[in-house]
Amino acid sequence: MTHFANETHEYLQAWRGPWPDLLVLDTSVWHLFSDKNVSNYERQMLALRHSCTRRPLKVPPWVVLAWVSPPPRNTLKAPQYKDLPAEWIRLYNLVARNQGFLQSTGRAHHLDLYAIALDCLPWCSRDGLHVVDTVNEVALQVLAAAAARRGLAAAAAGTIGPRRDPVRTAPPARAAGATATADDSGVLDVVVVGAGISGLTTAQALAMQHAAAAPRILVTESRDRVGGNVTTDSNDKEGLLWEEGPNSFQPNDFILQAAVDAGVADELVLGDPKAPRFVYWDKELRPTPSGPDVLTFNLMSPLGKIRAGLGAMGFKAPLPEQEESVEQYVRRNLGAEVFERLIEPFCSGVYAGDPKKLSMKAAFGKVYDLEKKGGSIIGGVLKLIQEKRGQPTPTRNPALPPKPQGQTVGSFRRGLKTLPDAMAAKLGGAVRTSWDLKAIAKEGDVYKLTYDTPQGCKELRSRAVALTIPAYVAADLLEGAAPSAAAGLKSLDYPPVGAITLAYPESAIRPDRLDAQGNLPGFGQLHPRSQGITTLGTIYSSSLFPNRVPKGQVLLLNYFGGAQNRKVAEMSDDELVAQVDKDLRQMLLRPDAPAPRKVAVRVWPRAIPQFNIGHLETVGGAQEALRQAGWDGVLLGGNYVAGVALGKCIEYGYTFAGQVAEQLKKTAAKA
Ligand SMILES: Cc1cc2nc3c(=O)[nH]c(=O)nc-3n(C[C@H](O)[C@H](O)[C@H](O)COP(=O)(O)OP(=O)(O)OC[C@H]3O[C@@H](n4cnc5c(N)ncnc54)[C@H](O)[C@@H]3O)c2cc1C
Repeated sequence: MTHFANETHEYLQAWRGPWPDLLVLDTSVWHLFSDKNVSNYERQMLALRHSCTRRPLKVPPWVVLAWVSPPPRNTLKAPQYKDLPAEWIRLYNLVARNQGFLQSTGRAHHLDLYAIALDCLPWCSRDGLHVVDTVNEVALQVLAAAAARRGLAAAAAGTIGPRRDPVRTAPPARAAGATATADDSGVLDVVVVGAGISGLTTAQALAMQHAAAAPRILVTESRDRVGGNVTTDSNDKEGLLWEEGPNSFQPNDFILQAAVDAGVADELVLGDPKAPRFVYWDKELRPTPSGPDVLTFNLMSPLGKIRAGLGAMGFKAPLPEQEESVEQYVRRNLGAEVFERLIEPFCSGVYAGDPKKLSMKAAFGKVYDLEKKGGSIIGGVLKLIQEKRGQPTPTRNPALPPKPQGQTVGSFRRGLKTLPDAMAAKLGGAVRTSWDLKAIAKEGDVYKLTYDTPQGCKELRSRAVALTIPAYVAADLLEGAAPSAAAGLKSLDYPPVGAITLAYPESAIRPDRLDAQGNLPGFGQLHPRSQGITTLGTIYSSSLFPNRVPKGQVLLLNYFGGAQNRKVAEMSDDELVAQVDKDLRQMLLRPDAPAPRKVAVRVWPRAIPQFNIGHLETVGGAQEALRQAGWDGVLLGGNYVAGVALGKCIEYGYTFAGQVAEQLKKTAAKA
């Protein structure tokens, strides 16, 4: 088996130039894969990966190495695999995931022909060319991404810009994914402040898509870790893995793209799309409607459903002039029951907010737009469908994992922090943690940033600054330059939220909450404020994703506090655990359930920005005030601009990177 690895390694060592930009190592060991010799195949693939990275390796650092897993469904080449047994596919995935060989290493990238072949299956059986085209396209993407990263790494190492030597005699000092300290002397192009998911996505997108406009970027973060709100922790010895901030995301294509860009798409895990969500109403946990059961679900009365249906069709009061709160909008359009039993608890689930204050336009803009577009919610949906019909279907990046089905949620095998950690690793020395930005000043066309760092006070100079820090931090930094921007940002409310993770034995769950296999099914439950429960909601962490807790236990993540209960910030850990346990005993646990195991208690003193009435104007006003002050090189991003869901932050990260690149082009043109 090692013979094979030696062969590849020797082949690379014996290469008599010229070196190509991309070297794809195709092994075609698929024939070794059968239900009988999985381990043989596994060894071969591991050996191949090893051979790409083994040292010493003569391949110059700027050559992008890619190794492939062979296409299992290339029926032209291998008709015997036409109807690949499902068991083989399962084993393939198992081997791939267990061994992590679908992951790119710092040196070598992986072209997953399995996913590619699946993606173009309808064509693949007609002509092999489509596969070849797609593979070429993906190979080009890998190459472009690596080149962009190389540009970034080179920039970070002080050799500004993408590789400039076409005869490749002077390779850049760092390979993609290097972790060496970046050179921060001179004038940088962009400093991204904040390494939460917004900042890291912005930096990753700048590096991969706008390297020409922004070859020298740096990310700075005040904490000693990246991820911001994303806080996964684990106790491997005890088989526990939990989240202390967000628990999951809705896997839109932007998140999938970010995962692909960061090289962790193969770590994605998706929840069961059929997992019910419950609302506690009138002393009972009741499932929310999930489609076919829209007429029969028992969370609402028949009259309430009729009211909602008529309102959605347009039998309701017209859209008023003034901005409506979520409560006003939903009561007017869909009636009291939809508001009280579905939307009010949903506002706790997403914003930990107060629906009397949250702005419909700012907090749930897509739904708000429907009524504006079509006169009613259903009218808007129909109009949207009509508009879409006239447009060509947008092509989806073939490198993305298949579109998740149904109303699922996603995470990563080792929790949400996988994504920010991988992004930071790819950015390498361009990320500085424990760098706390204390002041921004303008010197001509350049911004001077002053930091408190473990090495003392540091100064950076940059043509642009992308702020992805919370609004109240940005407010302090901008007070001197743009007082009205600062005042607006300071006015945004960030109420406290507690995340309390408890473990119970499975036997503690009420029998009527368990399925036929004895598992606790579902995503989790929400508790309307009117129902006498203090906890906002509970996520069934161990039901949602695998390997979060040892067998025989359940792991429950409970959110507490928010805009309508700020006391959480003053409560002790024990008080929080006691209150959550008391609440759970009313809804989910047997009366004789043992005391919970306290896995983690974290209180976020300023957790989630509230998109209250006037939010969009406040943020827009702050942006405008910065421009008026001549600080148009300082751009505002992060969740209070993008939207609070992780998917929104990531989507906006790509947009924000484009805005930063545009700004740089503008200032370069002026100069
Ligand atoms: C308890 C909780 C539960 C949530 N649940 C979900 C969920 O299940 N699903 C979902 O989609 N979303 C959820 N969210 C929302 C989501 O997590 C956030 O909106 C998102 O993570 C925000 O990312 P961000 O990068 O914009 O901001 P942040 O994560 O706040 O990142 C900002 C970064 O800036 C850094 N910073 C601050 N000041 C400075 C400074 N002076 N210098 C340098 N750096 C600085 C901070 O340390 C931080 O790392 C939840 C949020 C919380 C708090």
